Amino acid sequence: MSIDYQFDKNHIWHPYTSLTQPLPTYAVTHATENKLYLDSGETLIDGMSSWWAAVHGYSHPKLNKAIEQQTQKMAHVMFGGITHQPAIDLCKKLVELTPAGLDKVFLADSGSVSVEVAIKMAIQYWQSQNHPEKSKLISLRNGYHGDTFAAMSVCDPVNGMHTLFNNVIQQHYFVESPTVSFYQDYDSDAIIEIESVLKQHSHEIAAIILEPIVQGAGGMKFYHPLYLKAVRDLADKYNVLLIADEIATGFGRTGKLFACEWAGISPDIICLGKALTGGYMTLAATLTTDKIANGICNGQAGVFMHGPTFMGNPLACAVANAAIELLFENDWQSQVKQIENWLNTYLSPLEKHTCVNNTRVLGAIGVVELNEAVPMAEIQAFFVSQGVWIRPFGKLIYLMPPYISQQEDIKTLANAIDVWLIQNHAQNCG
Ligand SMILES: *Cc1c(COP(=O)(O)O)cnc(C)c1O
Repeated sequence: MSIDYQFDKNHIWHPYTSLTQPLPTYAVTHATENKLYLDSGETLIDGMSSWWAAVHGYSHPKLNKAIEQQTQKMAHVMFGGITHQPAIDLCKKLVELTPAGLDKVFLADSGSVSVEVAIKMAIQYWQSQNHPEKSKLISLRNGYHGDTFAAMSVCDPVNGMHTLFNNVIQQHYFVESPTVSFYQDYDSDAIIEIESVLKQHSHEIAAIILEPIVQGAGGMKFYHPLYLKAVRDLADKYNVLLIADEIATGFGRTGKLFACEWAGISPDIICLGKALTGGYMTLAATLTTDKIANGICNGQAGVFMHGPTFMGNPLACAVANAAIELLFENDWQSQVKQIENWLNTYLSPLEKHTCVNNTRVLGAIGVVELNEAVPMAEIQAFFVSQGVWIRPFGKLIYLMPPYISQQEDIKTLANAIDVWLIQNHAQNCG
């Protein structure tokens, strides 16, 4: 059976893509380990982990088995009034692994929903404390927290579509993206702006929301752990909550199991997703502390007002349990460390190209930032022709390969970027 590309083009939305002038799509027929097999015959080495998610690669026997076994028992049951072992096992693991104090787990169906849940928790908490006026958030520029409305309202106001939805999204406070990078010396001036916003407005602020250490889809920026530590202290000083969105950074990607560990802090609320199920199914979790949970439940509503239909989906929980076990069986820490070394080895030489602004690496994340945005359709086709799957955005060509990737794979991925820089920017990118 051949792929009906015409139907796809005419009827199916793809992420952030025009339906009338769509960029080409590539049909994948199957995927194993870190390889995607195209209908057209090519085999591509995966550099994206399907957007941070498929950390163990594709079609992993242990993950397949977890789903198959769970399917024999039940694919889904409602979570209202019912519980089950896969959810209990998963929540135990999450309570144990996440930073101290995060003991109450809400299972959500996607990252964006877990952010909605986190924001709702913060607001309901302050209502319960007789501070309904504490309903605004502080967020960082260049942040990304998802595409639903509350999540969108805390995404970067410039590249995060705020102008389109200005009339309908909640208005929050934004401060500069952290100015001290991960590898610089910390400068305590970095928190002047956020502290001044807190000084003036903390009476109306429920929480600060941020991606710890790595700002992902909003710019792939790595910032200094002492900034995160300082923001934790400020949140306490000014009596606002701290929400850490670890949907992208969680489960080892930055070299720590959770990026908050770089700063040795615990947030009041944490959001997890993406790699949670090893990229198998959509599942997310929002964890909070006893204090916040008790506040919410002693408040006016008496309950937390959220309950998705597919909450705690047993298939998703079962595969998440297996994916977390696999992290430790595979020694994720040395996998990520190795990839970090290889990314450094093969990406830093690309700085010789004049069109490259800089390269940077943290954990299993490698970024090549150019001076100008790349032509998407063209570069995508080029990478496919080189046998790699890399999907840049704007000026950023970045790699976040599955943890099972080998040295040869990282070399091939980096080499494809190098060749593109040589061939397509021959005049200004020697
Ligand atoms: C991907 C992402 C989200 C949104 O998750 P979805 O599952 O796509 O809804 C939120 N926050 C961060 C940091 C993310 O990387």
